[in-house]
Amino acid sequence: MPSEMIETDSHILVTIACLSDNYAFLLRDKATGDVALIDVPEAAPILAELAARNWTLSQIWLTHHHPDHVQGLAQILSEYPAPVYGAAADAHRLPDLDVSLGDGDSFTLGSALVDVIDVSGHTVGHIAFHVAAAHAAFTADSLMALGCGRLFEGTPEQMHASLNKMAAWPDETQICSGHEYTTANGKFALTVDADNTALHQRMNDIAKARAEDKFTVPSTLALERATNPYLRVSDPSLRAAIGLQDATDTEVFAEVRARKDAF
Ligand code: ZN
Ligand code: FE
Repeated sequence: MPSEMIETDSHILVTIACLSDNYAFLLRDKATGDVALIDVPEAAPILAELAARNWTLSQIWLTHHHPDHVQGLAQILSEYPAPVYGAAADAHRLPDLDVSLGDGDSFTLGSALVDVIDVSGHTVGHIAFHVAAAHAAFTADSLMALGCGRLFEGTPEQMHASLNKMAAWPDETQICSGHEYTTANGKFALTVDADNTALHQRMNDIAKARAEDKFTVPSTLALERATNPYLRVSDPSLRAAIGLQDATDTEVFAEVRARKDAF
């Protein structure tokens, strides 16, 4: 199974393709050798990546309870018995947690601080992990490349508030989202944001990447701010395109999300 790597002075970030369109991530602190696994869609490709790199696991972080994000956990734990971190609010429906987390909590991976935020919307209890020192955030099915997760449990108000929290991270933050959905997300984005030249440019880049079997995840927050319709709900031309010039940002968000569901 393929993987891709981004290396900074302090960290190595590995994106691992799992199942048909899921991603898992490994984040390694280069100074201490500590490694976190973020989400566990499928054990085999993750085990293969760890073996190939001769890495062990220090921590396992879960973003939300959906099977395609947790179902490989038991098999991973049988080889790498690392502590499992997840949302206290979802402890009843997540695998057994060693560390239960809530909005505003923080902990460390090696020498790096990890900030936890509640990003409810796709599910109520979905959390995201921001590692400022690694310029990386693990957002799974909340903020996604050119999209956001479907609202299975939360309200548009909740998801919009969650997206606003994530939009406050630094520009260079690598948004590590849970699925390779970018092409389909982009086709929809063009229907509400056709005048956005940055979006057209990104669609060209996405087509090129996918033709070469490259991942479009992670993506930077700066790129998402410029092209992701769910982060552009205050943009006048997007609002005009859907006839909601005078609506609140949350109303525009709700309309864009509803149109995507019907797309
Ligand atoms: Zn999900
Ligand atoms: Fe998912």
